[in-house]
Amino acid sequence: KLSAKPTLNKCSLSSDNVTKEDNLINLDHGDPTVYESFWGKMGEKCTLVIKGNDLMSYMSDTRRLCWFLEPELEGAITRFHRVAGNAAVEDRYVVIGTGSTQLYQAVLYALTAPGSGAGPVPVVSAAPYYSQYQAETDLLCSGLYKWGGDAYAYDKDGPYIEVVTSPNNPDGNIREAVVNRSGTGEGKVLYDLAYYWPQYTPITRPADYDIMYFTFSKSTGHAGSRIGWALVKDEEVARKMTKFIELSSIGVSKDSQIRAAKIMGAICDSYQDLKSGNSENFFEFAHQLMAKRWKRLREVVAEVSEVFSLPKYPKEYCLFHGEFTESYPAYAWLKSNESIEDCEKFLREHCKIAGRGGRRFGVDPSYVRVTMLSREEAFEQFLQRLLSVKDIKKRAL
Ligand code: PMP
Repeated sequence: KLSAKPTLNKCSLSSDNVTKEDNLINLDHGDPTVYESFWGKMGEKCTLVIKGNDLMSYMSDTRRLCWFLEPELEGAITRFHRVAGNAAVEDRYVVIGTGSTQLYQAVLYALTAPGSGAGPVPVVSAAPYYSQYQAETDLLCSGLYKWGGDAYAYDKDGPYIEVVTSPNNPDGNIREAVVNRSGTGEGKVLYDLAYYWPQYTPITRPADYDIMYFTFSKSTGHAGSRIGWALVKDEEVARKMTKFIELSSIGVSKDSQIRAAKIMGAICDSYQDLKSGNSENFFEFAHQLMAKRWKRLREVVAEVSEVFSLPKYPKEYCLFHGEFTESYPAYAWLKSNESIEDCEKFLREHCKIAGRGGRRFGVDPSYVRVTMLSREEAFEQFLQRLLSVKDIKKRAL
């Protein structure tokens, strides 16, 4: 019998990410709520009115390869990349997806269908790799492709696919492909550039790969709109990706598409409007905010350096900011000292912080990933609770 009342999720989260039941602060997901304060101040510039008879059709432009892509969004994506300087947009097809999550699956399909008959193609990524790739690859037990694990350990012959995430989730490093079989024509590489934006990392050149994809979730923080886009050189690959999206969801929400176009447009306008000043420029705002958070985190980790450490990142010349800048990744990749076997467990039990442990990323449990993209209250709590490790140490002595 169905109950008329919806059951409440037991782990109810308040706006500061703290679960009411056990006071645990949840920093496991990379939910980009950090940028809400900026967008809240944008008012009319980013407000959209959608009338009852707007955007009702499945179609956008049936003459185009990606027939469900609103021309307004395609234009905005091109302009957005030109402003950020982070990707080459010429001579490429744009294919959109319901988040880059759907695009990942669309690419795997496009690169392996129709099946060669030689069995599922292995999909590899260098550890530590984004924790969702494995589950997404193996979800449907596809006959076309299957998860093949850590790319550093991959040495088989035959076709394979390598996923390169740069900057990397979880550790923030800039990456290139690691399976060294170039020239054999057997390997296909796809680039997940979710975090290649000026607030997280120096933009050293426009990315210029055959298959690369980005997401609205991490560029501007609008994860709820579920918009991702791929820039694809090869027409056949773009066509098959479009087919995958047609068969899995008959396109992508138009309401979301025009919202994404409006917000990307507002960012680009702010860079063309010399009167607007830095405070209204999204990438400067986001970069300063991330820099401030990383400075504070590094100060706290320095105080508990007997227990935790963080990666260091090189300074590089950023074409966007026009100066040498540091990386301020979307996640803190914390490592615990040898006396702590399981860093995730330690953080949960002693600091009441929920992060995601190293094993989920294909490495050992002395690592844990904690999001840097939470709201301010949650970030403050994170720092306070991390500092409390000092008291634990004192009590232990
Ligand atoms: N790739 C990477 C590396 C990510 O970190 C994420 C989100 N955490 C995604 C893809 C998926 O993003 P979305 O589906 O929201 O576009």
